[in-house]
Amino acid sequence: MYFNLASIALLSCCVLLMCMSSYGAELSPNPARIQSQSSNSTIEQFEQQRRQMVEYQLRGRGIKDERVLAAMSQVPRHQFVDLSWRDWAYNDRPLPIGHDQTISQPYIVAYMTEAAEISPEDKVLEIGTGCGYQAAILGEIAQEVYSIEIIPQLAERARRTLNQLGYENIKVKTGDGYQGWIENAPYDAIIVTAAPEHIPQPLIDQLATNGKMVIPVGKWYQDMVVLTKTQDRIVKKKTIPVRFVPMRRKSRAW
Ligand code: SAH
Repeated sequence: MYFNLASIALLSCCVLLMCMSSYGAELSPNPARIQSQSSNSTIEQFEQQRRQMVEYQLRGRGIKDERVLAAMSQVPRHQFVDLSWRDWAYNDRPLPIGHDQTISQPYIVAYMTEAAEISPEDKVLEIGTGCGYQAAILGEIAQEVYSIEIIPQLAERARRTLNQLGYENIKVKTGDGYQGWIENAPYDAIIVTAAPEHIPQPLIDQLATNGKMVIPVGKWYQDMVVLTKTQDRIVKKKTIPVRFVPMRRKSRAW
């Protein structure tokens, strides 16, 4: 009897492990497959969660720019995170994206995008591509988006996700964003999603006249700074307190 129970338990463990490993195989973040494998009701649930996110987390907290709200209603945030985090994708919080990095809370993405005052004909630079979600929001609003990510694996994954979702106006490069992306400068807006301790001079240089940069500045805790470049001066305004991952200066083997 004891033996029988033990072998049943062993068999159940094997079946469970087999199920888990086939589930694990589905964890690879391939949005096209995720989309095609989702049932209609699941997609509808995500759409409903997205509508609620826009109403309660964004509009309810003072985000007013209709183009930002439309972009946040449009981009499928759940397709930018690993399958295991999809059910949390529309929650009011940042989420892990691997390599010790995070995708920002939806409100912060909307706040930064609104503060950058982007027009449809604008060229925008983002520093810190991460999973590519903020880049996709910018891609909905601006004409051209250039985004730099220092961790090669994240850059590659973001490139793949953005391609699969059809964002042809977004280019992702692997490198140190502190230096900007001189070849396409000047930029009408620059959004920085990793925190440096001071504002990188190359980014100020690559900002167009009348352009805006939105950047968290500080060590452990930061202030969100909105910088405006006019003909003859740079105006910096500290806005909300935030907490971002630090801006790294050198690529290392991840
Ligand atoms: N905007 C991202 C989230 C950014 S998390 C999104 O929507 O998912 C911050 C990202 O900045 C991380 O992926 C981190 O690797 C990257 N990063 C840090 N220092 C950097 C640097 N010097 N240049 C470019 N990217 C950097």
